[in-house]
Amino acid sequence: MNHLLRQIPAIHELQQDKRFSQLLEGMSKQRATECLQEAVAELRDQLVNSQIDDQQLHITDEIFSILSERLSEHSLQRLQTVINGTGTVLHTNLGRARLSEKAMQNVRDVAINYSNLEYDLQKGKRGSRHDVIEGVLKAVTGAEAAMVVNNNAAAVYFILKSLAKDREVIVSRGELVEIGGSFRVSSIMAESGAKLVEVGTTNKTHRKDYDEAITEQTAMIMKVHTSNFKVIGFTQEVPPNELKQISEDRGLIFYEDLGSGALYDFRQDGIGAEPTIAAALKHADLVSFSGDKLLGGPQVGLIAGKKQLIDMLKKTSLPVY
Ligand SMILES: *Cc1c(COP(=O)(O)O)cnc(C)c1O
Repeated sequence: MNHLLRQIPAIHELQQDKRFSQLLEGMSKQRATECLQEAVAELRDQLVNSQIDDQQLHITDEIFSILSERLSEHSLQRLQTVINGTGTVLHTNLGRARLSEKAMQNVRDVAINYSNLEYDLQKGKRGSRHDVIEGVLKAVTGAEAAMVVNNNAAAVYFILKSLAKDREVIVSRGELVEIGGSFRVSSIMAESGAKLVEVGTTNKTHRKDYDEAITEQTAMIMKVHTSNFKVIGFTQEVPPNELKQISEDRGLIFYEDLGSGALYDFRQDGIGAEPTIAAALKHADLVSFSGDKLLGGPQVGLIAGKKQLIDMLKKTSLPVY
């Protein structure tokens, strides 16, 4: 082993090798030297731990072979295009929805230049980022007002914190979902400072469960889309039109977290059973949904609903961009 260790060339000698020069085509000399040092250290470890005891081992070849292996592993970890062979069109692990060529061209045109993101060109003074997106969102959802936050998880947190902190929010036990490992209705509720009041059971929730749970402290009835599971068999939930009625009668906010959120009615093409955002807004005062699950585009959470509520959200001191 010792004689193999002694054969490891000095870094400046390895730098003379043509395989090192090839590295310099894709990275700086400093980075290439660091990679080389890491490969040498890895080989030294292997020799010391007697994982290699090959007397014929060609030390320099071995160093460059470790080096190229590590570099290709590294490039596989980086973001790259893949073929989605999962059978799930919008796969959360595979970038969700794709952006259209046209949208991408618009992003590119704006992003490589300065833009009027926060400048009102007509008035010649500072504008609001909300205005850029609000008009479009109102048009496609039919909502009175709309806004954007970082993602739908942030939207849920933001809505609960801004409109129900220190008060009670009623959710059916059948809708206390966990999504993607980091989004849990109960945890977000706790973090927001709103108090979760669970009603009904896993499979059945009745209108009277909501009615009986309402107290002076209740701020909101929340309905959560059970995006990633189905309860089938002996089940019952209270439809949104009834939740609207209850909320109106008792002076509460009815908020619906719609998960993916469909802007287009896929049912007319025989796909799925998702109501559109516009349909949900016939009943809910406020809805939130993901802007990247179904719609495509960067990670974003979209909020739409009554102007009075959206105005309150816009005024909150939480940073929302
Ligand atoms: C996906 C999902 C979220 C989280 O949305 P992100 O955009 O990933 O933050 C929240 N609620 C429901 C019901 C969801 O399906």
